[in-house]
Amino acid sequence: MASFTSAAAERASGLGDRIQERIAYWQARVGETRDRGLYYFNQPVDEILSPTRVRIGERELVQFASYSYLGLLGHPRINAAAVDAIGRWGTGTHGVRLLAGSLSLHRELEQRLARFTGREDAVTFSSGYVTNLTAIATLVGRHDVVFCDKLNHASIVDGCQLSGADFVRFRHNDLGDLERRLAQAPPGVTRLVVVDAVFSMDGDWADLPGLSALCRRHGAWLMVDEAHSLGVLGTTGHGLEEHFGLAGVIDVKMGTLSKTIPSVGGYIAASAELVQVLRHAARGYIFSAALPPAQAAAALAALDVIEAEPERVRAVQANGARLRHGLRAAGFDILKSATAIVPLICGSDARAYQVTRACQTQGIFALPVVSPAVPADLARIRATVTAAHTAAEIDAGLDVFRSAGLEAGVLPGGER
Ligand SMILES: *Cc1c(COP(=O)(O)O)cnc(C)c1O
Repeated sequence: MASFTSAAAERASGLGDRIQERIAYWQARVGETRDRGLYYFNQPVDEILSPTRVRIGERELVQFASYSYLGLLGHPRINAAAVDAIGRWGTGTHGVRLLAGSLSLHRELEQRLARFTGREDAVTFSSGYVTNLTAIATLVGRHDVVFCDKLNHASIVDGCQLSGADFVRFRHNDLGDLERRLAQAPPGVTRLVVVDAVFSMDGDWADLPGLSALCRRHGAWLMVDEAHSLGVLGTTGHGLEEHFGLAGVIDVKMGTLSKTIPSVGGYIAASAELVQVLRHAARGYIFSAALPPAQAAAALAALDVIEAEPERVRAVQANGARLRHGLRAAGFDILKSATAIVPLICGSDARAYQVTRACQTQGIFALPVVSPAVPADLARIRATVTAAHTAAEIDAGLDVFRSAGLEAGVLPGGER
């Protein structure tokens, strides 16, 4: 122990030790935020009282940071399916899917996902993050080009980098910029375009009609991440294609089982041939354990509930509109949000932390997104709303956001 400590201390004193530099950086950054009482990350919730209410210590807060867009967390039918699966299959797996880990339950879930997404087949992975990482790295590689919207989720960016393909980022939702870049790629190379259906930081959606036309013209494959559109977009919550009335134009549909679907895991839905490639060549499938039975069963039941209770989809859309309208009326810059994700632009990280504290002390569970996840001058509160929120909860939330914005000087008139 002593020799371990002194070896670490020796390294620490060595100039240019990058790990030591990282430790010092985070020590300072987290410590400073904590000291000023502005640190709300990693805050443990003690109890989930309802889809919209949590208890932290003695305090009850209204959720405005949940991804359970249809309010399905704790749904009795989904809980029952998970409990039932534990009774039948146990809590773990017997290994990876390719070898001993596959259950008939996994196949049932994948066939249900294929049906839900309107694709021939689907394959699941242990998380959405892993899904993007391993799917992109399997589909493209050296000598190929992958095109990525600048606001795409980190898991897409990481997948592009891991793939070794030429990695080209185009301006957010700028089809002119994408077209120029597609045209610049050497003739004959394989092109893959990847976008979020709903952008996770800004809450706007991808221009699917434009993207699919461009991809067709340039012989590019189109992959879309439906993490924030499943259950949210389209009249029955089936996502971006349904929203635009363009069934079948997406080549590779990616999604997560951890947001609208109250489970964990990720999936790719595509042609049977493409899915077969992932089942035999995706390292995140071959070298990582199968989904636990309870989580697979919960996801399966959730897909049924989404289709059986379409009023939830209408509710999240109406609640999104109510929140966006109220925030705009209060004077907030919410960018081009058009969904259940609504950014309240605060400016500096410090201001976003101040708004967070004002919200949390007034009973609203809202959290900031700061640099480097977003540009340094576009730090924000990322509010999300679900089908389970009542109009009264949203209106009370709006009052708190308004007073917090005034207090922190984000809204004009409040600066002291
Ligand atoms: C959350 C998210 C993921 C990752 O999904 P997990 O299941 O949480 O790992 C991928 N893409 C987008 C756009 C996301 O928002």
